[in-house]
Amino acid sequence: MRRKECLMNHRLTSSLIVIAALAGIVSSAFAQQKPPARGIVNVTGQLYRAQNDNHYTVFLVTPEGIIMSDPINRDFSRWLKAEFATRFKVPVRYLLYTHKDWDHASGGAVFADTAEFVGHANMRAGVALPPGTPALPADAVKMDANRNGLIERSEATGATSERFDLFDENRNGILSAAELIRGPVNDVYLPSTTFRDRHTVTLGGKRVIMVHLGAAHTDDSSALYFPDERAVFSADVMQIKRLPQNITPTVGAYIDALRTILSLDFDHAATGHALMGTRKDAAMSLQYLEDLSTGVAAGIGAGRSLAEIQKTLMLDAYKSFERWDTHRTVHIAQVYQLLKGTPRSGATPTN
Ligand SMILES: [Zn+2]
Repeated sequence: MRRKECLMNHRLTSSLIVIAALAGIVSSAFAQQKPPARGIVNVTGQLYRAQNDNHYTVFLVTPEGIIMSDPINRDFSRWLKAEFATRFKVPVRYLLYTHKDWDHASGGAVFADTAEFVGHANMRAGVALPPGTPALPADAVKMDANRNGLIERSEATGATSERFDLFDENRNGILSAAELIRGPVNDVYLPSTTFRDRHTVTLGGKRVIMVHLGAAHTDDSSALYFPDERAVFSADVMQIKRLPQNITPTVGAYIDALRTILSLDFDHAATGHALMGTRKDAAMSLQYLEDLSTGVAAGIGAGRSLAEIQKTLMLDAYKSFERWDTHRTVHIAQVYQLLKGTPRSGATPTN
């Protein structure tokens, strides 16, 4: 009896271990596919900011409908559309793109039944296949095991594998160099209305002004200005208490873009990533770029090497900013190479 009980206990213990192990596997599987962090917060008046994990968009509710910015992706857009239906009971009338990048501009088709889509005139070309027969990008060459200059589905790894169908423009299961350079933009719904410099949308007694930001980040980057709400929205170009990702194509283009934003009369600075802030915060972002630019130029003028400038130009005023520890030296290198006229290296991923 004792032995049997012991055996039973042993069996019970083994079963519990198996169950615990299975639960661990299941919960880690769930952890990998956990639903994105989503939410809506009020900015001011009828202007709101909506979140999908690390990406944010904004929308303005009027009695005649909603004016929204980036759709981010299809799942998020479906979620947002359902939220609009229950909370505001008016349809989206305008969808205004900040820029062409797939991680901000995908999923708009969800609103195509009611919305007019507006983007900068360069957006269409930005999501089209590049002309000619370009060579495979360096990171794709590593994937090209059979060296045929194409990436078959079985060769794709990492983000290329994950987003394969978004890259595959002609949906033939093979990625050409042109498709890879174009980017994973298959789910970007093209704007039917485009503009060059500024474009004003009016609805339900409200105005939103789209302002082209020049060449910073992408050549179609635009800010959205809400004059009645005294708010501005910019994805990727403006950052709050956070260093930008790559300063492309030049630090000058970034400085011009931030100056364009600061030429608007606003109090609320809403961004496509991370924190929101105030006009003062936006001005700090511009100040960082100016300090970076003049600091590197002074270093070069004093005959310092890149490594020396990276060691001495601490940009301490921005020490509390997100990415200061990882991006400061990269930015110094980007500006140094620009001023010296040498090719860029050490670039960080976009966003
Ligand atoms: Zn981004």
